[in-house]
Amino acid sequence: MKKYAMPILMLAVFETIAITLWLTKDNLFYLFNFSYIGCSIALGVFLFIRKYRYARRIVQLLVGFYMLVYLGLICQENMQIEGFWYYLFSGVFEAATIHYAVAKIFGPLIFGRGWCGYACWTAMVLDFLPYQTPARPRKKIGWIRYCTFVLSLLFVSALFLAYAGNLERIMFWAFIIGNVVYYAVGIILAYAFKDNRAFCKYICPITVFLKPMSHFALMRVTCDKEKCISCGKCKSVCPMDVDVTDNSRNRKNGTECILCMECVRNCPKKAL
Ligand code: SF4
Ligand code: SF4
Ligand code: SF4
Repeated sequence: MKKYAMPILMLAVFETIAITLWLTKDNLFYLFNFSYIGCSIALGVFLFIRKYRYARRIVQLLVGFYMLVYLGLICQENMQIEGFWYYLFSGVFEAATIHYAVAKIFGPLIFGRGWCGYACWTAMVLDFLPYQTPARPRKKIGWIRYCTFVLSLLFVSALFLAYAGNLERIMFWAFIIGNVVYYAVGIILAYAFKDNRAFCKYICPITVFLKPMSHFALMRVTCDKEKCISCGKCKSVCPMDVDVTDNSRNRKNGTECILCMECVRNCPKKAL
């Protein structure tokens, strides 16, 4: 049973969030929402432990489609970064603000960038492209993410300053158009840079929250130096160029780790 501690822990964390929000917000939706996400993640971790090759992809599809289709298109909740600013400026602690607090701001203190590996609906599509591991060295253009972050903030600020009407409708269309743009740019960059995760590395504004918080993540891959034979396999399969054999918090690209476990799966000495 000990080896199943992680899926049980994940389920317990999400159920705690689900029950707490259900009771404090008096809204049954939160119980359903976080229970569903917790069950999906726990199932994925369970399948990973059972060595099922596509465990992570199953979680990505379960959570990604739920968030994109059910929450985004059917419930018309904008879970993109502009939706977060919108709810934040409106003073509403609902939907996108809760989602960001759990998945992207405070959650990463526990599970790092697990969101990026298991739940993001943008990466859910990008991970189907042919460049699972980057075929070219990383470029020094990560500063673009700060521009897109500021642009999203300016966009919503301008709507508020202009007293734009029907903001809910604008946010819904911003969600649709934003996703189309993200997918188009993500796919073009993946082929241009021969790297499925190029969008994540250079453009995604959410990483401005994710990176600093995941620096302190409780859950992270570490290396048993006694077992490691420095074969380099872990680095060669990492989609995010992380130097996972360095156990320090400041390891190269350490805040890029999406906990995909490709390094763990491929290590010939089970050192990770
Ligand atoms: S970096 Fe952005 S696009 Fe990539 S997986 Fe994370 S949230 Fe999604
Ligand atoms: S794959 Fe394993 S043995 Fe090889 S360098 Fe990485 S941690 Fe060490
Ligand atoms: S391969 Fe390992 S170090 Fe690289 S992102 Fe996945 S879990 Fe993190």
